[in-house]
Amino acid sequence: MRLRLPLSLAALFAVATLFPTANLAQSAAPAAVPANAPYKNATLSAEKRAADLLKRMTIEEKASMLAGSGWMESMPIPRLGIPAIKMADGPLGVRSWAGSSSITGLPGSPLKVLSTSFPAGVAMAATWDTALVQREGQAIGQEVKALGRDMILGPTVNINRVPLWGRNFEGYGEDPYLSGRLGVAYVKGVQGEGVIPSVKHFAANNEEFERHRIDEQIDARTLHEIYLPAFKAAVQEGGAWNVMSAYNLINGVHCAEDRGLLTGILKGEFGFKGFVVSDWGSTYSTAGTVNAGMDLEMPGGPAVKKWMANPALLETGNSGDWLEGEKVLAEVKAGKITEAQLDDNVGRILRVIFLSGIFDHPHAGGGEVNTPAQVAVARQAATESIVLLKNNDSLLPLNAKKLHSIAVIGPNAAVARTGGGGSSMVAPKYAIAPLDGIKKLVGSGVDVKYALGVGMEGEDASQDTAEARAKSLQEAVDAASHADVAVVVVGRYNKIEHEGADLKTMDLPAGQDELIAAVEQANPHTIVVLNTGNPVTMTKWIEKTPALVDMWYGGQEGGSALASILFGEANPSGKLPVSLPKEFKDSPAAANYPGENLKVNYAEGIYVGYRYYDTKKVEPLFPFGFGLSYTTFAFSGLEVTPYAAAGGNHHGAAVVSLTVRNTGSRAGAEVVELYVHDGHSKIDRPAHELKGFKRVELKAGESQTVAFTLGRDAFSYWSPETKGWVVEPGTFEIQVGASSRDIRLKAPFELKQ
Ligand code: BGC
Repeated sequence: MRLRLPLSLAALFAVATLFPTANLAQSAAPAAVPANAPYKNATLSAEKRAADLLKRMTIEEKASMLAGSGWMESMPIPRLGIPAIKMADGPLGVRSWAGSSSITGLPGSPLKVLSTSFPAGVAMAATWDTALVQREGQAIGQEVKALGRDMILGPTVNINRVPLWGRNFEGYGEDPYLSGRLGVAYVKGVQGEGVIPSVKHFAANNEEFERHRIDEQIDARTLHEIYLPAFKAAVQEGGAWNVMSAYNLINGVHCAEDRGLLTGILKGEFGFKGFVVSDWGSTYSTAGTVNAGMDLEMPGGPAVKKWMANPALLETGNSGDWLEGEKVLAEVKAGKITEAQLDDNVGRILRVIFLSGIFDHPHAGGGEVNTPAQVAVARQAATESIVLLKNNDSLLPLNAKKLHSIAVIGPNAAVARTGGGGSSMVAPKYAIAPLDGIKKLVGSGVDVKYALGVGMEGEDASQDTAEARAKSLQEAVDAASHADVAVVVVGRYNKIEHEGADLKTMDLPAGQDELIAAVEQANPHTIVVLNTGNPVTMTKWIEKTPALVDMWYGGQEGGSALASILFGEANPSGKLPVSLPKEFKDSPAAANYPGENLKVNYAEGIYVGYRYYDTKKVEPLFPFGFGLSYTTFAFSGLEVTPYAAAGGNHHGAAVVSLTVRNTGSRAGAEVVELYVHDGHSKIDRPAHELKGFKRVELKAGESQTVAFTLGRDAFSYWSPETKGWVVEPGTFEIQVGASSRDIRLKAPFELKQ
């Protein structure tokens, strides 16, 4: 069955008039542009300037602007002073723009650009710190400008549907509300610098398996409740200037030619006024794509022709080179694309060129990157992202003054694994591995022994013989048994966890399970550190593990951040932005992944992540929102009162307040999570949904009142019947807790009509 996306006529009309067409007839020779043409006047609004400029463009010029001029540049029109938009990946820092990651990412590539490597998106999400994510966006925006670029291809706000998606590390986890808040923060940070972000990938890019051909069967409610809200927030609250369309198909249509999705929902319903850029190699038609509301095809020019000549790439379903000027022009002449449509597409690109300031103040480049301030943001983010999952008998924090020796073991111990692979892989000027971070922190007073334990899969063939493996394992056991404590840093790396392919298994690669078990046997004071973006199966050793820490991919400062947490210089405050299942088969979409015959059925519907585990009572290994601390917090005094405002989203909705107190003996931060439970709705709803959160820093003994304002939307669901959001008055339960399964306070709330 082919499910149609709902499309409101009013919405379509609104889009079509964003840039009303004035000049249907074009002269062959363009009129000279006066020096005082309104579009050159920086005091006029971006809309006015774009409308004026559109009038002065020939149809050929307009048609030429729908495709890029290079790998990462849009088409400039020097006659009119229109600059190329110069882009770069994205989203975890600025990556080389010289070509695809398969070229620029090669070891020793001369095309590298060295910039600050920030923690992976999933790590940023584990901070639950919107202000920090905004500062990250700001720092990245500054680096984009310093490097002479205009646009960063991020944030990634796709939801973690399955624990095997190769790009889960890039996104903000499994919850649409959390992803939305962080997406908004990133967008604000970037745009505040006059740099264009790209909220990607619209929509539902949730697996890399056959990413160009996979046809996702998703019902409208699931799309609206799970896969679209983060985009909606980035557009409506972040005011995002750009959205990138996804590779995949939804209900039979490629995203780049889905008019219902791009024009109906994004530009119509959400009111998006920016432009849509295609993902690299995701277009399949000329008129169909332009008419869908896909405004700019990337890449373009000679770069795309060279790229498209690669048969191996075409084999994957990669497709492009549909929107070059002549092709678009031919379709306009054939009446397949209206000038009104063309004006809308071009007008949107022009509007952003004016809004961002790049028309008036081009980014010349030549500036400094990786400044102390930018590095400080990366370091703080890496530190706040670390999640303490287990800490029996307060093994952590370690005391550097009392410790004599420490064994640091594992294939991820001595190498800085800063991020996953693919277009988001940033090359930093330096990166701190866990071993370096620990050595630097403890200084010469503690004997630090290192052992590889086991070679990482696919990294060094000489480590992959039976002999080498036995020797490495023995060395690890020896190091562990002679040390006061052992730290085993395990995980994956950018050749296993990357764009373009999914993980084959949730299990740790390369015999790391055996390594952990052997080290735990040799030393009861073993701390296991996870250095990866996706969940891992831990059943083989977790029972015996006294302390477990998740450092994700922490960017260039990951190793120093880890050391500061292990030794208590910083208090762990990260919380899981994804549920960690016991085994892959427990995860909600396991039975419907990766799909058959190029179709994948999102049969679990809205039951993604904790919505599934908590409603269907499937116990995860560690729940969504979970994370321990070196101090303790008490929640008290929950009060829920109706919001006084009359009318609008807040009418009669709720103001929630409570007191959080640090009851332990050291300073720390707690993330207060607010969930709403609906017990009276006409249709099935999850056990509860996250609708608010706040990260609160408290000194020992200190308390603070935390308040949330919930709008009516916090109580709503998307109704397949009315094809819109519905709020059913009645009694809801407000829950406040420290994870989705650690609800500390509850109160009923009566929502009135
Ligand atoms: C990725 C995008 C990226 C683009 C440009 C694509 O393969 O999916 O996220 O921005 O390449 O490198």
